[in-house]
Amino acid sequence: MDISTARHVVEAIAHRVVAHADELTALDQAVGDGDHGLNMKRGFDTVLAELDMLAAGSVPGLFNGVGKTLVMRVGGASGPLYGTLFMQLGKSWPAAPDARSIAACCRAAVDAMAARGKSHAGQKTMLDVLLPAVAQLEAGTDLAQLRRLAGEWAQATVPMLAERGRASFLKERSIGHLDPGARSSQLMIEAVCDALEAR
Ligand code: ADP
Ligand code: MG
Repeated sequence: MDISTARHVVEAIAHRVVAHADELTALDQAVGDGDHGLNMKRGFDTVLAELDMLAAGSVPGLFNGVGKTLVMRVGGASGPLYGTLFMQLGKSWPAAPDARSIAACCRAAVDAMAARGKSHAGQKTMLDVLLPAVAQLEAGTDLAQLRRLAGEWAQATVPMLAERGRASFLKERSIGHLDPGARSSQLMIEAVCDALEAR
């Protein structure tokens, strides 16, 4: 993946998240404080506004810059988490990217996010989409399959009991709702798949 492809992918993620801000807000109104859409829109609007500068150098530089922007601009729980994800993508980006080394880099990034959130799979968070996505990349997947599965993983958070973030305050009442962060992660994966397929 060269810098122009990486830029294209980041741009696709940003546009997708911004387009779904109202939906993410509505999901967060049901189980949280209703700011997930606005938080994410603020961060990714800044990424889009600064994209020329962010993508002026290397691929790791772009991912690291996106991560820093998200930490500074998104706020809430999701800002530091998605920020960590992108910053670690930048730190672990392979010198010779291929499917296997990119999967390893994504593993490092999602593990860093899990460490930051002190969270693991099954707690009704974005990790319930991102952890299986990384496992799927490691197993060797195609983009159509990854896109389809991402939707299934997000939906699988509906019957879960939230054990992290504000939704965990609701205890049993968190059951029956789609996790906002799982949905935003699904949107990002779909945007990556669409952007790479169109390339
Ligand atoms: P806040 O909860 O601070 O208002 P957001 O609304 O932006 O932040 O993000 C909420 C989302 O963040 C949740 O739907 C969940 O997916 C994710 N989340 C919250 N806490 C954690 C955590 N400790 N580990 C992983 N994901 C988390
Ligand atoms: Mg919130």
